[in-house]
Amino acid sequence: MKISKRVMQIQPSATLELSAKAKQMKSEGIDVINLGVGEPDFNTPKNIKAAAIKAIEEGKSDFYTPATGINELKKAVCARIAADFGVNYEQNQVAVTVGGKFSLYVLAQTLLDEGDEVLIPLPYWVSYGEQVKIAGGVPVFVTPEDGLKVTVEELEKARTDKSRIVIINSPQNPSGLIYTRDELEAIGNWAVEHDIVIITDDMYGKLVYNGEHFVSLIELGDEIRKQTILVSGLSKAYSMTGWRVGYTVAPAKVIKKMGALIGHATSNLAAVSQYAALEALTGPQEVVEKMRVAFEERLNKVYPELIALPGVTLKNKPQGAFYLFPNVKETVKLTGFASTDEFVAALLDEAHVAVVIGSAFGMPDHIRMSYATDLASLEEAIKRMKAFIEKRM
Ligand code: PLP
Repeated sequence: MKISKRVMQIQPSATLELSAKAKQMKSEGIDVINLGVGEPDFNTPKNIKAAAIKAIEEGKSDFYTPATGINELKKAVCARIAADFGVNYEQNQVAVTVGGKFSLYVLAQTLLDEGDEVLIPLPYWVSYGEQVKIAGGVPVFVTPEDGLKVTVEELEKARTDKSRIVIINSPQNPSGLIYTRDELEAIGNWAVEHDIVIITDDMYGKLVYNGEHFVSLIELGDEIRKQTILVSGLSKAYSMTGWRVGYTVAPAKVIKKMGALIGHATSNLAAVSQYAALEALTGPQEVVEKMRVAFEERLNKVYPELIALPGVTLKNKPQGAFYLFPNVKETVKLTGFASTDEFVAALLDEAHVAVVIGSAFGMPDHIRMSYATDLASLEEAIKRMKAFIEKRM
């Protein structure tokens, strides 16, 4: 059977693939420690589950909802943003979607014409480039010369008259770094000057550590805000990956067209997830803080142990999200592997530790390790990595 050219060009999600392999090994009775997945290890907080059960019992979840979500939830998104960032949006500027991933997918379909370019700084989240390609756009990857954050000068060098969008993700998956207010202001002003739409992926905005402060592009004054589309979701901060709640905040005319497309794609996010999300956003927020503190503790414990491994370098300690993205070029050399990919495959097969290859994020000398797993497993993983590396040196 013939497969379309459009789909033939898509690479499967490296993180999902690896996760599937690790799960398969586990089901065969192998004691795998999976640091590959990007999801919190906590269950969804009880109050959120209870709200979902109540919605089911009351029959509220039995029917289709509007394509971009129920009004109460859109209102709750606006209220949360007003409380967190002091900026006001209207309900018609919000679309609730099946995960932040689908928000980004629909945005690419809504904003891009054939050949339009999207500037994507490295390291990037795995789906950005593929989603742009599916929409007929051209991903233009921008490599930071120094470190893991792109500068406005580097973006300017990559800009052409076809550039339409830049995607900024802070705190960043996979590096965990946060763009400072000054860096964001520079990018924001540049985007305004050249009429480039900024998509800010704030998925990890609530997960920042050790006194760091997250600034969103929507906070930087009206001019930058009007140039910015916000994508976020409840997966990471509220430990709700399975519920698939994401949202876009954008100009009303963009939301309206997104709604038209969503109406032909998923119809709407499952109603039960919308009622769960309503409780997450309007109920007690202490649950978020409790999980944040746990991630912070793990980061602080495991970071020094990781950088003590032979050849591993990680200049900047992560400030947010829940990933470590060390450079292992030297480790790969020391252990005699031909590539990071081979190193990662052997680490899984022999030491039973699953990490993600850096090439999935555009940086093949790196690996990504998630610390959204319990501390004992994390420490055991580092121990196994140490033994695995030392055995080969
Ligand atoms: N953006 C980033 C940077 C992510 O890491 C993820 C999930 O891994 C998403 C968006 C999408 O998350 P979800 O679709 O679960 O809302």
